[in-house]
Amino acid sequence: MNRQFQSSPGGRPLRGLFVSGTGTDVGKTVALAALLRACLKAGVRVRPVKPVQTGVSGPDDARGDAAVYAAAVAGLGNAVAPATLRRFVMPASPHLAAGREGVHLDVESLRAAVLRHWEGDEDAQGLLLEGAGGLHVPLNDSEDMLDLMESLGLPVLLVGGNYLGGINHLLLSVEAVAARGLTLAGVILSDTQPVAREDEDTLAIRKDNEALLRRRLDERGAQLVLLPFEPDLHSEPRASLAWQALADVCAPLVETVRRACDPCAGEEAAARIEDMQERDRQSLWHPYTSATEPLPVFVMARSRRNRLALADGRELVDGMSSWWTAVHGYNHPRLTAALRRQAGRMPHVMFGGITHEPAVLLAERLLDLLPEGLDRVFFADSGSVAVEVALKMALQYQQGMGRKEKSRFLTPRGGYHGDTLGAMSVCDPVTGMHTLFRGVLAQQIFMERPSCRFDASFDPSCLDDARRAFEEHGHEIAAVILEPVVQGAGGMWFYHPAYLRGLAELCREHGALLIFDEIATGFGRTGKMFALEHAGVAPDILCCGKALTGGIMTLAATVCSQRVAEGICHGGQVFMHGPTFMGNPLACSVALASLDLLAGGAWQRQVAALESSLRTGLSPCADMPGVADVRVLGGIGVVETEQPVNMAALQAFFVQRGVWIRPFNRLIYLMPPYVSHAEDIARLCDAVRAAVMEKKI
Ligand SMILES: *Cc1c(COP(=O)(O)O)cnc(C)c1O
Repeated sequence: MNRQFQSSPGGRPLRGLFVSGTGTDVGKTVALAALLRACLKAGVRVRPVKPVQTGVSGPDDARGDAAVYAAAVAGLGNAVAPATLRRFVMPASPHLAAGREGVHLDVESLRAAVLRHWEGDEDAQGLLLEGAGGLHVPLNDSEDMLDLMESLGLPVLLVGGNYLGGINHLLLSVEAVAARGLTLAGVILSDTQPVAREDEDTLAIRKDNEALLRRRLDERGAQLVLLPFEPDLHSEPRASLAWQALADVCAPLVETVRRACDPCAGEEAAARIEDMQERDRQSLWHPYTSATEPLPVFVMARSRRNRLALADGRELVDGMSSWWTAVHGYNHPRLTAALRRQAGRMPHVMFGGITHEPAVLLAERLLDLLPEGLDRVFFADSGSVAVEVALKMALQYQQGMGRKEKSRFLTPRGGYHGDTLGAMSVCDPVTGMHTLFRGVLAQQIFMERPSCRFDASFDPSCLDDARRAFEEHGHEIAAVILEPVVQGAGGMWFYHPAYLRGLAELCREHGALLIFDEIATGFGRTGKMFALEHAGVAPDILCCGKALTGGIMTLAATVCSQRVAEGICHGGQVFMHGPTFMGNPLACSVALASLDLLAGGAWQRQVAALESSLRTGLSPCADMPGVADVRVLGGIGVVETEQPVNMAALQAFFVQRGVWIRPFNRLIYLMPPYVSHAEDIARLCDAVRAAVMEKKI
C-alpha cells in the first residue's frame, strides 16, 4: 500500500492545526504549550508534533522543548512531549541543519512522515503540528515550510511577537497563508518581553499592534488572542499557576481546535457536500450531461501534484490531467507564482491597440518551439475558438488568393476539434452529433480515419480515401484539418505518422492548406513536444491550447505561416476575429512559466517513464474478455472496450479505489500528469485492470 496516501479507503483524514511562528523567537513554543494545556483541560486530545526540529541530538535532549511542554501540562496526567519526526543537531534552519548531516529534506517525505504518525496514533483526535521559524523557512533549495503546510491543508494558527515590527511580520504571514488557499484559524500575539509600566512607547506600540491586527483579522473571520508575558513559567512553585494563566488566555482558541479535530466534522462535512451537490443539481449544467437527469458529480476541494482531494478529505490519484491540461501536476509553485505576480501587475487589458510583455514573449517562445515556417501567433481563449480562428484563416486566405470556390474543409472521420459550430462541423459526424444540428452545420467533406496503426508498418493504401476525396472535391477544399498522430476525444486512436507526409503532399498538389490541431497533443504528451515531430511535417496553420498554461488558465493559440498571413492581408484586408479576452496577461504569464518548466527538459524522461509504466500496467488487459484493444503512446494509455461503459458506475468504482479516471463511450484512458510517480501509475493501472476483471465495464 502506498503509505503516502492520506486516506486509503478506511483511513481517517488528517485533523488538527498547523501552528507556525512569523519568525524565530516569537514565543511559539510557549504559546503552543499553553494552548495544549487549555485543550487537554477541555478534554480535546491533541498531540503536538514537530515535523522537523533542529538543534537537538535526541528525544531527551534538554535543548528540545520537551521540558517546556512537561511544565505546561504538569498535573494533567498526560505525557505529551512533542513527537519530533526529523531531528538535526545544528541549531539552524532545517535546510542547513539537515544538509550538515547529508540529509535532503523534502515536502513529500515529511508529509508522508506526518501522515504515518497520524495513522499510528489512533488515540489522538488531532495534531498540533509545529513549524520551525517562519513560513518561508527553507526545507531545501526549492521548498519551504509553507509548501509542507500547503501539502497538508490544515487550518493555520500563526504566532507573532508583539513588538515593533511584529505587525509587519504578522501581516506578511497572514497574506502568505491566504495566498496558498489555507484557512487562517487564528493568531496569537505574544508579549515576548516584560515591559515597564512607565515605558509608554512600548505600551502604545503593543496596543496599536493589537488594535490594527484585530481589525484586519475580523475581516478574515480569524481569532486573535493576546498572550501576556509570564515571568514565572520556569520558577517553581508558581510555574503551574503561570501556565494555567496562559492556558486561560488561550481558552477562546480551544473551540477552534476542537472543530479542527472533530470526527463529527465528518458528518457535518458530509451534509455540506450533499447540500453542495443538490445546489449544483439545481443551478448548474455539466459537460455533456442532462440538466434534468444529471450524472452524479464529486465535490473537489483541493489539488496538488498528481492528487485531487475530495471535499470529504479522500485523496485521489489523478489519471486525467484535467483533460490533457495539468501536465506539471496541480498547483505547481512556479505557475501559481507567475499568476500571482501578473495579478499584482495587470490581470487583464484589452488587446485592441495595446500589447504587453507576456503576450510578446509567449508568441516568441511558441514560434521557437514550433517548426520553421510557422511565423505568426493569434491568441484565442479556448481550443474551440482557436479552431474557429484556424478555419476562418483558411477561408480568408483562399478568398484573398482569389479562390472563392475553396470554401469547404476535408477532415478524417474520428476527429474532434471542439464544440462551437464551426469546430463541430469538422468533428466526426457520428460522435459529433451532426444529425442534431443538420441544416445549421456547414457540410464538410469526410474521409476515412487513418487506418494504419502507429505501431504497425506503414501501408500507403491508407491514403487512398484522401486521394479519392481530393479527386472529387479538390476544387472546393480550402484546407484539411486533423489532429496529427493522435485522434483524441474522437476515439483515442494513434495512427502512423507517414500518413501526414502523404496528406501534406496531397494538400500541396491541390492548393489546400494543412491545419494541425495540436490542442490535445501539444507540449509533450505523445513523447514529442508536438506530435507533428513524429512525422517531420509542418502545417500551414496550427492550433494549440489545453496544456499551454500547464492547466491553470484557459488559453489557446492559432499559429500560421507568413504565406497564410500575407494571403489574408494583401490588398489592405484584415483578419476578422478578436476575442474580448484575447492575449489575457494572466494566462500568457502562466503559459510562459509552463514553457519554462518544459524547457528544463525533464518532461522527456517523465513521459518516457509514463509510457513504460502504462504499457506494463495496461497490457494485461489486452487478453481479458470485453476488451477490444489496448494501446499506449507517450503519456496516453487506452483500454478500448467492446461495449460502451457505464460511466457513472465506473467512475464511482474508481473513486472508491482512490483514483480519478473518467471513461467515456468505449474508452477507459489514462493521461496522468508528467510528474506522477511510477507507483501512482501502477495504482491507476491496477484500478483499470480491476474494473475490467470485475466486469465493471
Ligand atoms: C479539447 C480539444 C479542442 C477544444 O478545446 P476547448 O478548449 O475545449 O474548446 C479542440 N481540439 C482538440 C484536438 C481537443 O482535444
